[in-house]
Amino acid sequence: MKTIAFFDTKPYDCESFEQFNNGRYDIRFFETRLTAAALPLAKGCDAACAFVNAEIDREVVEGLVANGVKVLAMRCAGYNNVDFKAAYEVGLTVVRVPAYSPYAVAEHAVALLLALTRHIHKAAARTRDFNFSLVGLTGFDLHGKTAGVIGTGKIGRIFCDICKGFGMNVLAYDAYPNTSSGLEYVSMERLLAEADVISLHCPLLPNTRHLINAETLIKVKHGVTIINTSRGGLIDSEALLAALREGTVGAAGLDVYEEESEWFYEDHSDVTLQNKTLSLLVSLPNVIVTSHQAFLTKEALANIAQTTLANLDAFFADEPLENEICYRCLGTGGASKADCPRRSNGRCHRR
Ligand code: NAD
Repeated sequence: MKTIAFFDTKPYDCESFEQFNNGRYDIRFFETRLTAAALPLAKGCDAACAFVNAEIDREVVEGLVANGVKVLAMRCAGYNNVDFKAAYEVGLTVVRVPAYSPYAVAEHAVALLLALTRHIHKAAARTRDFNFSLVGLTGFDLHGKTAGVIGTGKIGRIFCDICKGFGMNVLAYDAYPNTSSGLEYVSMERLLAEADVISLHCPLLPNTRHLINAETLIKVKHGVTIINTSRGGLIDSEALLAALREGTVGAAGLDVYEEESEWFYEDHSDVTLQNKTLSLLVSLPNVIVTSHQAFLTKEALANIAQTTLANLDAFFADEPLENEICYRCLGTGGASKADCPRRSNGRCHRR
């Protein structure tokens, strides 16, 4: 039986993977994240399974292969945390779950937006304290407002549809516009200038890092609401904090934070948070921070487990790997996308 070293395990992971494994893999669940220090846990395992905040650098990649691991199954969609060039060089196959529930993430973005526009977080705290005053809770209608959506892939398009359902005007920006989507694509400048709500749904890449920064924040509509359920590194947090304090940005809903890996997913309620910017953001009344939970629905967990196990089944059966990813098909690390043989022979690693 093939063995999987399963890192960063939470109770909900155990539940969904055990439900869909049906005894076909020996899954060794470890609470620790996949780091260089945790590599001995993977010794003798055929596969490793990691999540979104593991830092899978060259040392980890080489260590996995040295321990006998042949395939790294990422149980997430984003992949900015993996050194793909290193993985390719040492022959470690990387698979992922490209879509488990784009609805889960888009709906969470909308949940953040609605909570902020109608001050739901403040109202809930007040009524728990039997304070039934409405003073300071005046919101605004989303109907008739403009949503600026950056990144119109699977999640971004669902977010656009929901906004249209609210009667909002939707302006879109994408590096690769989908011309058949019926969306109105505009320049970044126009989106920044006209949007009442900006929601980020593009990946974190070298060219999208700090897409929202001090310079772009000068160009936004005064009082804009910014929602980020994509990756923390898309926003320069210091610049966002300054813009929130000045009122340029009216509110922010953040499911991700650029230095989240140190804090998110764990209970730090008994320590003083040693991250000044995050502490200040969390303390602002017009900011809601959630701990990278946009994916966390029953449906998404089931899809993550089923797709991850199917990816491993295909890998060990030497079948085409629909969800394999490498630095060539990504077109990163000096590689050209056209060089990746996955489209022609089903696997990035077959030469
Ligand atoms: P996707 O690949 O379907 O769509 C991404 C879109 O971004 C594509 O249309 C692409 O063309 C566009 N894009 C690429 N570079 C761009 C740029 N420079 N500027 C503007 N647009 C650009 O991905 P998806 O499934 O919609 O996921 C979007 C992001 O959501 C992921 O990258 C991931 O980081 C994040 N995510 C977060 C969670 C969560 O729990 N918070 C869960 C899943 C995914």
